[in-house]
Amino acid sequence: MKKPIIAGNWKMNKTNADTKALITELIPLVKDAECEVVCCVPFTDIVTARKAARGTNIKIGAQNVHWAEKGAFTGEISAEMLKELKVTYVITGHSERRQYFAETDETVNKRTKAALAAGLKVIVCVGETLAERESNKTAEVVTRQTIGALADISKQDLKRIVIAYEPVWAIGTGRTATAQDANDTIKIIRRVVRKLYGRASANSLRIQYGGSMNPKNAAELMAMPQIDGGLIGGASLKAEDFAKVVNYNK
Ligand code: PEP
Repeated sequence: MKKPIIAGNWKMNKTNADTKALITELIPLVKDAECEVVCCVPFTDIVTARKAARGTNIKIGAQNVHWAEKGAFTGEISAEMLKELKVTYVITGHSERRQYFAETDETVNKRTKAALAAGLKVIVCVGETLAERESNKTAEVVTRQTIGALADISKQDLKRIVIAYEPVWAIGTGRTATAQDANDTIKIIRRVVRKLYGRASANSLRIQYGGSMNPKNAAELMAMPQIDGGLIGGASLKAEDFAKVVNYNK
């Protein structure tokens, strides 16, 4: 059985003081969760988040990583730096990175490989824009992004990858994909992975849905057979809301 994974993506929110308060409030609310619980926090909050979550079932992740080991890349953070801070997960390919920071399938792949090489687990995001969806390009886009992100990644390393299917038009908009649509697109992504790695690897890969997932719609989405978790933006910023998503089955 695959363990579902619910991960919060805090984006550029929360100071260190906020981080300590939010994690502290979250701990008792999610302590009996049956899924894996992750908070992907800003780089500056990692140490505080790790300290606050020590000894609990909350894992800490980052939101980006550079592919180079070190060097003249002002403003970037290496996988080794994240490893030293003992983060478990890192997000790559989030649509906001693709949209505002010129992230491409190639750079997503490079970042993902660097993180895996350092021993981290990676949440790789894929998803179509509204224009792509309206021109019936969803399957084409998620196929291209999935193949691109996974280029030169071994079957062994795939075990440390989670894919997040996040339709861009559903992120931060309050507009959720229907559970059926999310399930159908995730099925397409899983089929791509099956062609690349075989049935067993594709079936054991966890694929999350992300895009305005919240306490109200989490149970319905999580009930779909292809959906193995959620990547949660807005609803991860309040302990009570995030806990309700994490405890979607209670
Ligand atoms: C996200 O940023 O990954 C996300 C899904 O955001 P939201 O839940 O706010 O749509």
